[in-house]
Amino acid sequence: MLVEKDIVILGGGIAGLWLLNRLRSLGFTAVLLEKSTLGNGQTMASQGMIHGGLKYALAGALTGASEAIAGMPAHWLRCLQGQGEVDLRGVQLLSDSYYMWPRSNMRSRLTAFLGSKLVSSKTTEVSAEAVPEFFKGHLQGPLYRLHDIVLDVPSLLHTLGEHCRPHIYRSACKIDHDATGNIRTLVLDNGSRLKASIYLCTAGAGNEELLHTLQPPALAMQKRPLQMVVVKHRQPYPLYVHCLADQFSSTPELTITTHPCQDGSFAWYLGGGLAEAGALVDGPTQIRRARAKLAELFPWCNFADAHFHSFHIDRAEALQADGKRPDRDSVLHSGNVLYCWPTKLTLAPALANTVIEKINELGIRAGSGNDAPISDLQYPGVTRPVWDTL
Ligand SMILES: Cc1cc2nc3c(=O)[nH]c(=O)nc-3n(C[C@H](O)[C@H](O)[C@H](O)COP(=O)(O)OP(=O)(O)OC[C@H]3O[C@@H](n4cnc5c(N)ncnc54)[C@H](O)[C@@H]3O)c2cc1C
Repeated sequence: MLVEKDIVILGGGIAGLWLLNRLRSLGFTAVLLEKSTLGNGQTMASQGMIHGGLKYALAGALTGASEAIAGMPAHWLRCLQGQGEVDLRGVQLLSDSYYMWPRSNMRSRLTAFLGSKLVSSKTTEVSAEAVPEFFKGHLQGPLYRLHDIVLDVPSLLHTLGEHCRPHIYRSACKIDHDATGNIRTLVLDNGSRLKASIYLCTAGAGNEELLHTLQPPALAMQKRPLQMVVVKHRQPYPLYVHCLADQFSSTPELTITTHPCQDGSFAWYLGGGLAEAGALVDGPTQIRRARAKLAELFPWCNFADAHFHSFHIDRAEALQADGKRPDRDSVLHSGNVLYCWPTKLTLAPALANTVIEKINELGIRAGSGNDAPISDLQYPGVTRPVWDTL
């Protein structure tokens, strides 16, 4: 059976789900194919921070990255209130702010930097009364509050998925290309063939394999590895903080977010410099490093009976000449395929705007395909977060 749609999206992370929501609300007959479960790649592994780019500005002057990202927390907040282009009222806000905690040696430099006109509207120094419970009685210098937010990613994926549930399918697909690299059709698990005016590859690290099916294969993607650490413990205080080391860098030495687990406990999720520096070491080494870092930063806490777990994951992005993080979202156009990378969860709305502009430029119009559901394929469901699998 041949099924025709305006648009087919390959990959159900934040990029594909946000795009599906936008495109369907614009009237396109769009469907999404996920080969595993929604969020199974980077999205469920992310820390859920929607940031305004201040941490990038820390590395020096404002960069393209910090400018592209500056308006994003406000943009997402409008969506969370049901006033944006995608309705996120079902999504749980874990924190409406984020803290930045400098080491003693960089405090004076940081205070001067944060006082500069460039960033003063994005941060406030936390008064003694407003210091989060966790730090009370233990702070010897200033703590800064960023106007960034943290989202519960499982509820984000559930909400985006449920909005478009009848148009999301679990299926691998075999790609049938013509001689010029255009996709002719996709052959699905139920044997039907799917044809669209345009195909959007939002498969994260999976885009690499899709790019290799081109003739000649395109080298257009880079992966930057991390080893993240999850800590389940008895600390009663949720913590959202960038711990800044002695030098100015766009990567804090440790970035901590806190996530509710299904068993009622909380997990701290550790990223930042710890995850980057530990990308190539084995799990036990990374866990030793994480324990040592927590003991050094928070000597008033006891992690003796905490449960530590680490795992490797790659950030998948458009290839950069210097191998560093791209400044913004990226789209590569080849024939009737757009290969898409948001670069950050935060930038998914910006990526959708870039893609929609491109689709308009290409003259693809809404409503030409058949919107009937594809039979014999199931909704993929949402991936379980790692802290619920321990
Ligand atoms: C550890 C970590 C922490 C992060 N923290 C943050 C953060 O706090 N804030 C922030 O803004 N950004 C963060 N990021 C970046 C952010 O998570 C990613 O930029 C974003 O999630 C990428 O989304 P995506 O939809 O492009 O890809 P992914 O989330 O990787 O999704 C790709 C999907 O495609 C599917 N797939 C793969 N191949 C195929 C195929 N052939 N057919 C169909 N489906 C396929 C996969 O199963 C997967 O579900 C973090 C990244 C990592 C790795």
